[in-house]
Amino acid sequence: MSQVSNEYDVAVIGAGSAGLQAALTLGRMRRRTIVFGTDSYRNDPAHAMQNFLGHDGTPPAELRAAARKDVEAYASVTFADVGVTRVRGSVDAFVVEPDGGEPVTVRRLVLATGVVDDLPEVPGLAELYGDVVAHCPYCHGHEMADGAIGFLGAGPHVPLLSELVGRLAERIVVLTDGVAVEELDPALRAGLDRPEVTTVEAGVAGLRRTEVEGRAGVAVDLVDGSEVALSGLFVTPAWHQAAPFADQLGLETADAGGVLVDIMGATSVPGVYAAGDLAHHRDLPMPMASVLQAAAAGQVAASAADRDLAASDLARAVG
Ligand SMILES: Cc1cc2nc3c(=O)[nH]c(=O)nc-3n(C[C@H](O)[C@H](O)[C@H](O)COP(=O)(O)OP(=O)(O)OC[C@H]3O[C@@H](n4cnc5c(N)ncnc54)[C@H](O)[C@@H]3O)c2cc1C
Repeated sequence: MSQVSNEYDVAVIGAGSAGLQAALTLGRMRRRTIVFGTDSYRNDPAHAMQNFLGHDGTPPAELRAAARKDVEAYASVTFADVGVTRVRGSVDAFVVEPDGGEPVTVRRLVLATGVVDDLPEVPGLAELYGDVVAHCPYCHGHEMADGAIGFLGAGPHVPLLSELVGRLAERIVVLTDGVAVEELDPALRAGLDRPEVTTVEAGVAGLRRTEVEGRAGVAVDLVDGSEVALSGLFVTPAWHQAAPFADQLGLETADAGGVLVDIMGATSVPGVYAAGDLAHHRDLPMPMASVLQAAAAGQVAASAADRDLAASDLARAVG
């Protein structure tokens, strides 16, 4: 960590798209800002980032490198390329404890530490995740199009997902992974009982990369010894917060685990803002997780923190 002192208005914790955009916004307003982060990001497994205007197909690391260069042009922003272990305190006096470094006191916090996916424990799955195995049809569906697209597990969300993906796929294959279709909830069974959907009941033994009609695909090895070849497979990982700050600061969270924020990115604790995958807007049914959404939320949260500081300084100045 270089040149760290206590002279900061805002700590941005997290240097992915949410944190970097927050830092850019704060730097442009000459806010004394310190950015914490390690070189680890949710989309590390993906070699290309889709569905971001002007950057469709860009490697995520390339976007981050360009973003970092943008931010480094603003002298009021310092990068502390290190993780944070603990955050404590309250508005105007938050204490950020970097891993192995001196604590830093800041007036406002923008949390942008993201989440970590907990992938199903299927042999071979982790190696293919972010490529021919993915979780988001908006990010990866188009790359799997015109072949058989699979879903691992027959969760209640699968009928709607297969309707969405149905326009891309030649056919849909739902791998119930050892669950008999007869045992599924009747509404779910009805959702799967359609001509374009094939269900496969055998348990999944593992996944392998393969070639399907001249392009990359995934071979699903079943416990009965048979194999299903797909152009892509969707999984629904569980996830958890990448950092412990919601607990440490006592932030209100949604049942699913996201930090609840209002439309400006304010959390339930004054002076603490949150943006990106770790946050869950109160009016939305789920966290909206994409690079563009994270960057947009980072901009909003940083603007809100900046305005909050300005309002507080103005109130002090005019008594
Ligand atoms: C496989 C995969 C593919 C994807 N593909 C796409 C796609 O094609 N298009 C798209 O729009 N979205 C895609 N996404 C979603 C996208 O990756 C996320 O929505 C986006 O990266 C969220 O950005 P973020 O800034 O919130 O978090 P991240 O990018 O995950 O950044 C988190 C930051 O927090 C830091 N951090 C974590 N813990 C600490 C700590 N204790 N102290 C300090 N810093 C910490 C990390 O070091 C990092 O800098 C994909 C996701 C996955 C999993």
